[in-house]
Amino acid sequence: MKPSPFSLHLPESLAEALDLLASSDNARVIAGGQSLMPMLNLRLAAPDDVIDLNGISELAGLREEGNDIVIGAMTRQRDIEFSPMVAERLPLLKEAILNVGHRQTRNRGTVGGSLCHLDPSAEQPAVAVAMDVRLSLRSVRGERTVSMRDFAVDLMTSCLEPDEVLAAVRFTPWPARAGHAFVEYGRRHGDFAIVSAAALVLLDAGGAVERCSLTLGGVASVPFRVEAAERVLQGSRPTEAVVREACSQAAKCEAISDPAYPAWYRQRLAQRLLERTVAKALERAAVQS
Ligand code: FAD
Repeated sequence: MKPSPFSLHLPESLAEALDLLASSDNARVIAGGQSLMPMLNLRLAAPDDVIDLNGISELAGLREEGNDIVIGAMTRQRDIEFSPMVAERLPLLKEAILNVGHRQTRNRGTVGGSLCHLDPSAEQPAVAVAMDVRLSLRSVRGERTVSMRDFAVDLMTSCLEPDEVLAAVRFTPWPARAGHAFVEYGRRHGDFAIVSAAALVLLDAGGAVERCSLTLGGVASVPFRVEAAERVLQGSRPTEAVVREACSQAAKCEAISDPAYPAWYRQRLAQRLLERTVAKALERAAVQS
């Protein structure tokens, strides 16, 4: 199929893009097009105006700001994959990005596009929840910053207003001695994950869990922190039994069902994947501590 007719706009600055967005009643911005193009072709989206962000250089790139790393929304997934800064300071994002589609899609796909598209199985939103990133949303009305928890509202639904653009994503790296792991299960490499798990763990001098972040993707309509599991692990010595007890909480989480993968399957897969992910993160934390 082909898209329904639309006017294409090629702004060269964010201000120009925001003015265009504010002046249209039915506009969509396009980034890498890896999700929006199929939606346009299938007429799952039928905007009157498509505003192309690819000519706006101020939206791309990574920079350090104090202890934080700020990633522009138009940064390609491939740039994340090859960034020494990400490899060193955001190893969870680096490990996750290698699971995103294929290198061809990562050449075009952007960090902002994945976060705004909010596929429940997408890796980048799961990492964004795991690291509690903050998102800078811009419009002609100004700028607002929201946490990823507040940004991801429901299935493929963010809190973006129709006239807003995601401009940048702010990550606060965990200490270098933290352990990280991102594990997913999909039918074939490059497919969207059925379920994914992300873990960050810090151990104290005595080997007990000082801080942890455990996230599941592909289970509910948006990625979420498994807080019940985190509470079991927090402060404990992470023996096998404690990790098993913590990860058993994953099987109790609310899960989406579809004809291919019912909720019970996702819950059971989530428990197993989380066990594997936490074990890997603990192993790395023990080495790094
Ligand atoms: P686009 O497709 O251009 O836009 C996506 C949506 O976000 C649109 O609604 C658009 O309006 C909106 N948007 C984009 N940027 C902004 C912004 N800055 N502000 C406001 N709204 C914005 N993804 C995965 O996570 N895991 C996978 O395994 C995976 N496999 C794939 C396999 C194939 C074959 C393909 C084609 C895609 C796959 N993807 C996968 C999707 C891919 O990662 C896309 O990059 C991503 O979903 C969207 O990024 P994009 O830059 O292409 O956004």
